[in-house]
Amino acid sequence: MMLPPFVKAAPLLERIEEAGFEAYFVGGSVRDSLLGRKISDVDIATSALPVELKEIFPHTVDVGIAHGTILVIFNGTPYEITTFRAEAEYSDFRRPDQVLFIRSLREDLKRRDFTMNAMAMDREGRLIDPYNGQVAIQNKQIKTVGDPNQRFGEDALRMMRAVRFVSQLGFSVEERTKMALSDMAHLLEKIAVERKLVEFEKLLIGNFRTAGLSLLIETGLYHYLPALADRNDGLQQLLDISLGDLSRLEMWTLLVDRLGLNERKTEGFLRQWKLPNKDLKQVLKNLYWLRFRTENDWTNLAAYRAGIDSMLSAEKLYRKILGEPFDEEKRLIKLYEALPIKELSEIAVTGNDLLAWYQRKPGPWIKDVLKTIEEDIINGELNNVKVEIREWLIHCNQKLEED
Ligand code: ATP
Ligand code: MG
Repeated sequence: MMLPPFVKAAPLLERIEEAGFEAYFVGGSVRDSLLGRKISDVDIATSALPVELKEIFPHTVDVGIAHGTILVIFNGTPYEITTFRAEAEYSDFRRPDQVLFIRSLREDLKRRDFTMNAMAMDREGRLIDPYNGQVAIQNKQIKTVGDPNQRFGEDALRMMRAVRFVSQLGFSVEERTKMALSDMAHLLEKIAVERKLVEFEKLLIGNFRTAGLSLLIETGLYHYLPALADRNDGLQQLLDISLGDLSRLEMWTLLVDRLGLNERKTEGFLRQWKLPNKDLKQVLKNLYWLRFRTENDWTNLAAYRAGIDSMLSAEKLYRKILGEPFDEEKRLIKLYEALPIKELSEIAVTGNDLLAWYQRKPGPWIKDVLKTIEEDIINGELNNVKVEIREWLIHCNQKLEED
């Protein structure tokens, strides 16, 4: 029984075969279907070269011709198709020096990282499994295809992949492969931050993330990750927290909090990881409110300034750190919903109103007055109604004049 995404793509494989080539489903989708996991996209490998695929299919997009990958749009769906290849000569522990296109599926499977990822399936659902990937899956084992030291020496990123698969699948790493993780960890130094980030973030949100993090520490791989070299203590703390349902940015927030970084150092840390600016800002905000929460309870003003998302994230993290249940969600949402305004622009008066009422030249005073109005509205001391705000301003001014 093939899953719908395979059934849908089977005619595509057939077309390639009709043109005289071989084509198979490979990699993560085959592995995940055997695991009963949801599959996102199906990867396809073929003996046809990219130029040959272009002759078969009218709609293609060049995405990585040099590596033998093109995108074929088939019945409106894009498929990544990669030509069988062997990877010759790794001289710098990173990427193959050159790509060798080959016509043999077995050789292509041989260059893949782990046995569970080195299976192929034909269009009728028959499995090609020369490296016993199925057995590895039954035993819940992550095992390199061939000698682990050699394979990690060829491409050190594979070590990060091993750890993130532990986090995603809850598998353990086969003994020799695991020893090689420790032995070869230092080679991770050569890997680009961008590639490490992808794997590290998958690790952070895996269902078995505590096991993944634990292995990252145990093997010493963390020494060679950005800004984590001597951070054993902070990382270790994560293992005592039930991380289950935290989002990616909540995980980053918790990490920098446990590392004890202040705002400036957090920014430096996240920049070293090359986290996108938008994410960086969100983490800094979450961190601010988490630390606020450890010293204070929520007030209307804090809820307003934090916003609903940061407030809930901060509360959740605060409870996790204490080891307490997070059952405040409803109460906090209610508190937030009850706020008379959610942002400055909702105030019933504008800068123009103030200019008219005060008969003063525009200047920074406008912002100051609006901010005072804003706070009093949030604190429930003033209704967000234009005439009332005006009355209140006159009243305040009188007081000022009396002083
Ligand atoms: P995911 O479900 O996260 O996409 P995946 O196994 O499909 O996991 P991809 O990065 O999409 O991972 O790679 C697809 C396939 O390519 C893998 O299953 C594996 O066979 C092979 N592969 C990927 N990266 C490497 C690598 N660094 N070394 C060797 N083979 C690799
Ligand atoms: Mg994939």
